[in-house]
Amino acid sequence: NSNHQLKPQFINGDHKSDVFARSLSLRRQKIAQQRRSLPIASVEKRLVEEVRKNDTLIIVGETGSGKTTQLPQYLYNGGFCQNGGMIGVTQPRRVAAVTVAKRVAEECGVELGQKVGYSIRFEDMTSISTRIKYMTDGLLLREALLDPYLKRYSVIVVDEAHERTVQTDVLLGLLKDVQKKRSQNSIGSSNNYDFVKDANNVKEGSNEVRKFNPLKLIIMSASLDARGFSEYFGGAKAVHVLGRQFPVDILYTAQPETDCLDAALVTIFQVHLEEGPGDILVFLSGQEEIESIEGLVRENIKKLSEANQKLLIFPLFSSLPSEKQMKVFTPAPLGFRKVILATNIAETSVTIPGVKYVIDPGLVKVRSYSPDTGIESLIVVKTSKAQALQRSGRAGREGSGKCFRLYPESRFEGLDDSTVPEIKRCNLSNVILQLSALGVDDIIGFDFMEKPDRMAVIRSLELLYLLGALTDEKKLSDPIGRQMASLPLEPNDSKALILASQFDCLEEMLIVVSMLSVESIFYVPRDKLEESRIVIKSFSSPEGDHLTLVNVYRASIEFLEKNKTENNNEKVEKNLRKWCKDNFINNRSLKHARDIYKQIRENVERMGLKICSCGDDMLQLRRCLAASYFLNAALKQPDGTYRVLANGQIAEIHPNSGVRRTKPECIIFYNLVQTTRNYVRNVTRIDYLWLAELAPQCYALKDG
Ligand code: ADP
Ligand code: MG
Repeated sequence: NSNHQLKPQFINGDHKSDVFARSLSLRRQKIAQQRRSLPIASVEKRLVEEVRKNDTLIIVGETGSGKTTQLPQYLYNGGFCQNGGMIGVTQPRRVAAVTVAKRVAEECGVELGQKVGYSIRFEDMTSISTRIKYMTDGLLLREALLDPYLKRYSVIVVDEAHERTVQTDVLLGLLKDVQKKRSQNSIGSSNNYDFVKDANNVKEGSNEVRKFNPLKLIIMSASLDARGFSEYFGGAKAVHVLGRQFPVDILYTAQPETDCLDAALVTIFQVHLEEGPGDILVFLSGQEEIESIEGLVRENIKKLSEANQKLLIFPLFSSLPSEKQMKVFTPAPLGFRKVILATNIAETSVTIPGVKYVIDPGLVKVRSYSPDTGIESLIVVKTSKAQALQRSGRAGREGSGKCFRLYPESRFEGLDDSTVPEIKRCNLSNVILQLSALGVDDIIGFDFMEKPDRMAVIRSLELLYLLGALTDEKKLSDPIGRQMASLPLEPNDSKALILASQFDCLEEMLIVVSMLSVESIFYVPRDKLEESRIVIKSFSSPEGDHLTLVNVYRASIEFLEKNKTENNNEKVEKNLRKWCKDNFINNRSLKHARDIYKQIRENVERMGLKICSCGDDMLQLRRCLAASYFLNAALKQPDGTYRVLANGQIAEIHPNSGVRRTKPECIIFYNLVQTTRNYVRNVTRIDYLWLAELAPQCYALKDG
């Protein structure tokens, strides 16, 4: 029997680690080979040389050519991080920052958060050893508040600049200025890349002349026209990286589609059942659309024959937990087809291998702002031609592909050439608040690549003034404005938290703001509408949706507390998932809200705000909501619709709102959505008289 006893030794740890090491090294080899085959690889030396020679460089290249993942590594290897400088790479989207950082860490064979890391709002995955740091453009702007010269960075890469998000535009202006200041106080020629350690040790406000190494600035864009960026940066050099693009067949519908979701669903199955192998990428406008299509696809798969059921669904949107985001990159097992349901993020920010079919309904969700009404909303609009082309291009990365545009060809011809920069169509109060905190008081005079609308600036200044963030001289007020600028939230929400500590309901307001920061807390499958109504009602407050959100959050915490005895995290998570499902709550959104809650709680604690709970006295919370969101107050009209007091806009209460039936006389709302009608969402009842009492800067009672 001694033979038998020997057997286990055969599968002992050593042997396993051997197999493990072999498969790891295979994976390494495969990655190394993938890297070598990227179009950008052939110009590595030249790119590094160009960055050495030029302080500002514009790199234009087709999506998927390797800009985002490779360039930072080339620069690292080219010595741009010597003596401690960092390479910062900004992305307009959180998902891109996270997935790319993970990929690059793997390519470098390092643990995420060490040499390669990422930092996004509410999540920091970096350490002192981080040298390549991916982050959102908004996050770098926040860093500038604490480190105005961005002295930790030797190189900053502004990626996806063609997207022209408002944060990118502000960042470009700021970086231009930082670069100038750093080169004025530079410690040598720009070719000298020794990072001066002492620069970090110069005390703020000391009389010593600060010495910095110059800042290298790289602007990367997928749009082939670099002229705008080049002109803005004083004729900066632009280089093009050629991509590899296979032909893509473009197909249009014969008639306009009335129900885009339905058309997308039908097309997914048409491709799956009639086309050869290859993954499908569907562009949808948001999490809600994605989750509802996901449900429909799942239902329909069940109706297929077993042989046809080999279709795997991968959602991809910003608030998806990052483990789930990464799954989308795993190739489908043999014989299976992947269908990726993505927001605009898959347009240029991330490239998913294996895609051969693209389904493009031709829509995108964007921010829209009306200076007349001062209202910002998210609206779904038609893509531009440039976007439609980018989307179809995604089908031709590895071979020829097909793109199904769910609209007639005539509509394509009528599309705008490119997207209007976000700065032209968003509420600027957040940006203005941040710039004020950076000492930029003259917003109109700021060196923007494209100036925002004058009226929009005035409106936003007005809002900040009404919130008490700016003084009469348009300077940042202290402490209110300074506190508001230090919170990673929209000005309205920051103000609500600051006020809540005075109203003794900061605990509840933290919950409200966190829950409102995530998309849709409730998730109701189409076939369970009736059942869900009864369940959701148990959380629902007749006084308002904000209170309902507090109820849901409290109930989930109570559930977690009860389960704590389990001592088994995985089990608790599983139980919570079930609890969420039973209660028609979106588990992902709730988890995200809990993370956000934790973070902003730390923020307000650091600010020294008093955190207390109003318990069941929700009157305090409602009064505080009125005091903070007073510009979003509306009065009921005789016909049952509501008139927004600040601008006369007419809207209805959204069907998902718990107060739609009770129809209070006076409400405050969190957002206004414009579809075919105007809807206000997240609505709570307030007393009309509170407005004059709590927001006298805006409302006064009429005599008589
Ligand atoms: P670009 O920035 O020029 O659009 P990227 O650097 O993002 O290009 O992508 C280069 C290549 O790396 C693409 O072929 C893409 O499929 C691959 N890639 C990027 N991220 C991942 C990942 N997480 N897993 C597998 N492949 C990836
Ligand atoms: Mg990229």
